[in-house]
Amino acid sequence: MDTRVEKKKLSLRERYHLMTRGLGWEPTYQPTEKVFPFTAYEGIKIHDWDKWEDPFRLTMDAYWKYQGEKEKKLYAVIDAFAQNNGFLSLTDARYLNAIKIFIQGVTPLEYYAHRGFAFAGRHFRGEGLRVACQMQSLDELRHTQTELHSISVYNKFFNGFHNPLHWFDRVWYLSVPKSFFEDANSSGPFEFLTAISFSFEYVLTNLLFVPFMSGAAYNGDLSTVTFGFSAQSDESRHMTLGIECIKFMLEQDPDNVPIVQRWIDKWFWRGYRVLTLVGMMMDYMLPKRVMSWREAWEIYGEQNGGALFQDLGRYGIREPAGFRDACDGKDHISHQAWLTFYTYDPVAAFHTWVPSDAELDWLSAKYPESFDRYYRPRLLYLREQQAAGTPVANKNLPLLCNVCQIPMFFTEPGDPRRICYRESVYEGERYHFCSDHCKSIFDHEPEKYVQSWLPVHQIYQGNCFKPGTDPTAPGFDPIKAVLDYYEINNGRDNLWYDNSEDRRNFEAWTAEARGN
Ligand code: FE
Ligand code: ZN
Repeated sequence: MDTRVEKKKLSLRERYHLMTRGLGWEPTYQPTEKVFPFTAYEGIKIHDWDKWEDPFRLTMDAYWKYQGEKEKKLYAVIDAFAQNNGFLSLTDARYLNAIKIFIQGVTPLEYYAHRGFAFAGRHFRGEGLRVACQMQSLDELRHTQTELHSISVYNKFFNGFHNPLHWFDRVWYLSVPKSFFEDANSSGPFEFLTAISFSFEYVLTNLLFVPFMSGAAYNGDLSTVTFGFSAQSDESRHMTLGIECIKFMLEQDPDNVPIVQRWIDKWFWRGYRVLTLVGMMMDYMLPKRVMSWREAWEIYGEQNGGALFQDLGRYGIREPAGFRDACDGKDHISHQAWLTFYTYDPVAAFHTWVPSDAELDWLSAKYPESFDRYYRPRLLYLREQQAAGTPVANKNLPLLCNVCQIPMFFTEPGDPRRICYRESVYEGERYHFCSDHCKSIFDHEPEKYVQSWLPVHQIYQGNCFKPGTDPTAPGFDPIKAVLDYYEINNGRDNLWYDNSEDRRNFEAWTAEARGN
């Protein structure tokens, strides 16, 4: 009889190593630079790819099992919510306009992230990094799907939900998130990770997820809350990828420090600008509010962000160039954005409104330094005009910042009565910017940003009409023609909440559900 030999059980670390690092090899038929053409051209120097450690040590089989279980729970809740007409217990149908912005402007970014991480996973060396990118790529595809499924329940009952992907590629305000992500996806793999994994996910993501998901919970949207929980556990992996990647680059070579710093300056500012939409949503769009944008910025931006950059000081990294100006904006950006959207609501696929008196008081309390002085009078004027049957609609198209693509409504740091304008001339053409930081992003890479697809320019050039439209025809209405090209149903998806079909329906349905 043979002696039984006890098989040595592999440690978690050894097992992970075999299932990940063992998958890489040195190419022999082709030179390495040809197989991995993007690892060097950004100027980042890596001496030892194996120094990349993935703290989660998740293998693919465990990943599928874990995600599959989460999926089962999520779909059980979504089904129950739909079958019980869960939307009837929302605080108010105004809330859904925040979710419209989410599905129009955020969900498509999840898909871009899916593609971006697939690209990064393909083009990095170092198996630890490649596996982490591959898993995140899968996570992001799953986020796209689960968001579409969680939110689709509302499409049956409300306007503004039926065409988000078509809108994402065309509608003016959606070019802000779209260009943000396309500019990241069209950079190299290291810059992409600095932009998305670090600047957005590690530094700024709490400002997106916490308000949206707590907002959903506060306002009775169980469907979106459950999606949020399901995505949150992926988020911790994504944030870790962000910080690990930064540390990896900084530890590999001191020459990487200035490159990484420039990327952090740029992507912090781009991410912050995109979050203007979230600020507006927190302060104006949630019938039951979670916290103000200012409070959220103080916790997640000033305190957490401040501590993080202090920590990165030992690598020679300082806080992002726009950090002080972002802090200065905390009293203003949400109000400025809401006022702009209100006056452009005829061309937006969601509704806006003037807050109620109680809500105006809440804003005064949250913004003691700015609200009563600069913003309440303007909102009261809008209310007055609306009551008189002449709601203020802006018929002129705004000048856009050539980098962040936001209309030029931001004010000078320290002077909220003066619009901030900057410009640069490049090859004889003049370009406009909303801030010093957008200008310096442009000045460093003009070739990239002269190509920006600016919605307003495109409209004026006649590129936003359906084929066959004749702008010289008598009685031609350019706004109607653009809405037609956008496929926004005029009078249903757009305009102000007070007279909307959404409001009429919601009030009728809830009255019926709550009455006898
Ligand atoms: Fe995601
Ligand atoms: Zn800008």
